[in-house]
Amino acid sequence: MSVIDKKFGDRYDTPKTPVAFDVTDLNNFYYDMQHCIKCKGCYWVEHTYSPGMNFPVRCASNLWNDFDAYGAMGKMRIGLGVQDGKLEWTDKLVEILYACTLCGACDVGCKRNLDLEVELTLEALRIKAVKEGAGPMPAQKKIAKNIELKGNHFGNSEPRLKWLTKDIKVADKADVVYFVGCSSAYANPEIAQATAKIFNAAGTSFMLMKDEKCCGNTVYSVGMYDEAKKIAQENIAAVKATGAKTLVTSCAECYRMWKVDYPKLLDISTEELGFEVIHLIEFADKAVAEGKLKLTKPVDMRFTYHDACSVSRLCDPWKPYKGERGWMGMIYPGLLRRRGRHGLYKQSRNLLNAIPGAEFVELIRVRENSFCCGGGRGTKEAFPEFAQFAANHRMEEVKAVGAEVLVSACPWCKNNFAQSAKAGDENIKVMDIAEIILAAVEI
Ligand code: SF4
Ligand code: SF4
Repeated sequence: MSVIDKKFGDRYDTPKTPVAFDVTDLNNFYYDMQHCIKCKGCYWVEHTYSPGMNFPVRCASNLWNDFDAYGAMGKMRIGLGVQDGKLEWTDKLVEILYACTLCGACDVGCKRNLDLEVELTLEALRIKAVKEGAGPMPAQKKIAKNIELKGNHFGNSEPRLKWLTKDIKVADKADVVYFVGCSSAYANPEIAQATAKIFNAAGTSFMLMKDEKCCGNTVYSVGMYDEAKKIAQENIAAVKATGAKTLVTSCAECYRMWKVDYPKLLDISTEELGFEVIHLIEFADKAVAEGKLKLTKPVDMRFTYHDACSVSRLCDPWKPYKGERGWMGMIYPGLLRRRGRHGLYKQSRNLLNAIPGAEFVELIRVRENSFCCGGGRGTKEAFPEFAQFAANHRMEEVKAVGAEVLVSACPWCKNNFAQSAKAGDENIKVMDIAEIILAAVEI
């Protein structure tokens, strides 16, 4: 008999209900939706950490629109209404559902108190919206079409390897495969080039996929489950065919998709993928620690770092879960919840603090409490004003800490922030972490 059995006796024997982290059925999150107490812990930055009066909010969606419906607490109620057949899919309801970056801030905020699976509920709600013909938004359908027809987010017909310059050495066969991603391949070649040059500088042989296609991040994020699953199966098979042991991404969204959402889609754990998935941050941090990559060139800048959602609170490894819920909502077998503790917080700061000449200053909302840029997961395409609002708000924080350069580890963040800086006529430069690492390497 377990300690809990002995302590609680009969109460532990109360009838149990099944629990499954399966996003294909919103009913699996009925308990979570029903037990949302509208405390708004998903809206505010953690109280124990509270950064003061100026930047106390974690939810970009609910800051953009003050109605509670836009926050997680509203969406949990909406989910309950939809599941109970009390709410119909109206245009407004669908807008509320999708004017949200699925940034996960609400999820880790809620888990400070209640251990509700908010992020999975929001994903399941979108999957239901798509199944019932209500979602996604027209701009997001267009992205899915682009991927189906051209294999990339933008519907671009140019060669995917156009970014690859002659001075970069790529192996035909290697243990490491660099998954470039659509943004770096087409919109941000400077990130792909910097990443490849970092591999070269560290003496790490790497290969590219023969016919790389989009990771499908947006397709999954907007609830197109079946399409995303097909992409996951095809991409995983393509990587396995290369024989690579490690897949490296330079895009935070690709990273989360490969590491968390592919296993989720295939009902396996991250460990069962058959190869390791890491972000460039992890690669570079290890290479510096092992003396393979030397950051010796001074970079005279005062810079700050934005924890992109998908390399912070959203990237804890995935493990399927099936169990039972009993007395007081406790679940058996016990579970270590995904709370964003495995984010690449330490590795990114190790790197940034190792850059000679540079002055690194932290933003106010960091790590799990980071404020989303507003650009990812198909949000910018469907709600450009919301995306700019979120980036502008974060830029205020960058100015408040007096940074000259804002660094991120995701091309979607870079582009959204750069647009905000340009529109606001800000004297703030926006760079990707790959660019700043490369700037500190003597080549
Ligand atoms: S989602 Fe969680 S944190 Fe947000 S209001 Fe509901 S119970 Fe509170
Ligand atoms: S995922 Fe982010 S934007 Fe959406 S409700 Fe949660 S905190 Fe707000």
